[in-house]
Amino acid sequence: MKRILVTGGAGFIGSHLCERLLNEGNEVICVDNLFSSSKSKIIPFMGNPNFEFVRQDVTFPYFAEVDEIFNLACPASPVNYQVNPIKTIKTSVMGAINMLGLAKRVNAKILQASTSEVYGDPIVHPQTEDYWGHVNPIGIRSCYDEGKRCAESLFINYHQQNSVKIKIIRIFNTYGPRMELNDGRVVSNFIIQALKGEDITIYGDGLQSRSFQYVDDLVEGMIRMMNTGDDFTGPVNIGNPLEFTMLELAEVILKLTGSKSKIIYQPLPQDDPTQRQPNIDLAKEKLNNWQPTVQLKEGLQKTIEYFDKTLKQQL
Ligand code: NAD
Ligand code: UDP
Repeated sequence: MKRILVTGGAGFIGSHLCERLLNEGNEVICVDNLFSSSKSKIIPFMGNPNFEFVRQDVTFPYFAEVDEIFNLACPASPVNYQVNPIKTIKTSVMGAINMLGLAKRVNAKILQASTSEVYGDPIVHPQTEDYWGHVNPIGIRSCYDEGKRCAESLFINYHQQNSVKIKIIRIFNTYGPRMELNDGRVVSNFIIQALKGEDITIYGDGLQSRSFQYVDDLVEGMIRMMNTGDDFTGPVNIGNPLEFTMLELAEVILKLTGSKSKIIYQPLPQDDPTQRQPNIDLAKEKLNNWQPTVQLKEGLQKTIEYFDKTLKQQL
């Protein structure tokens, strides 16, 4: 049994990761300030003696004797990370410094939840890990993109200078049950709009693309990455390479929900990436042939069921 710290553990991905780690018999400490989540996702684990919730902001130092750290604390939805951009940068950068300092002190292995956003609006397509990216350093997404890029730099430098055992994964768009109703990302927005019979809001012409990964596939990739040998640090892309336009996504969701919602078009936010698709050759090679197993329709069905239930509970 390991003692594992998950920052951002009350969030969408974090709650799935905590659940998986608990199911494998580990002791889990979840550190979260509930900025973009609620206790509801971790309440089911509260009765488990191996689970501990600490309400704490990662921009302040935290100490605990742990074997491993998964560093997920950071709002991930553009709507949430743009509410307080300075705080978003502080969370990525100071959070990384505090968690790397802790890893160094207690000799823990530490994994950084980085993002495909480090590639910005990519010119290389699909994106491979050796691509340096195309990020606007002063645009509205920069608080997130540059914060995450700086965190990657901190991770690599703590590894090279202080021999901290690090792992960096670059997560591509991930969806699934337990996203917040007001999260603002595209999959949850479209599903909720379809279920409520409201207009489906496509930003821009809907021809921009994303590649959507179901959360269980990501969690499997994260655990495999944490278990690789100390010489492999990444970064490694973790995502589902099947690419869809937002228009295609809206049409699939309308079909699966049987909704009569209309599609409407709204302005495209500044610096919205036009395309995104992971090359996952490195993940396959290094993570014991890891690859996504849940395809879009199956993952969307499970997510639709979750939101349908959640919305009915609110009535
Ligand atoms: P989320 O917003 O649901 O979860 C983030 C969690 O971090 C929340 O519980 C939030 O309260 C917590 N948090 C935020 N600031 C904090 C702070 N200062 N101190 C402590 N806790 C704080 O988002 P998510 O989709 O679960 O994303 C989790 C991680 O994965 C993030 O680091 C995100 O950048 C990364 N990621 C996610 C995606 C995706 O598509 N979901 C893609 C790329 C990267
Ligand atoms: N998007 C959209 N309608 C929405 C929410 C998002 O058309 O209601 C678009 C958004 O402009 C982007 C894509 O969907 O092109 C993915 O957006 P999301 O916020 O989910 O993630 P990210 O842009 O960070 O990949």
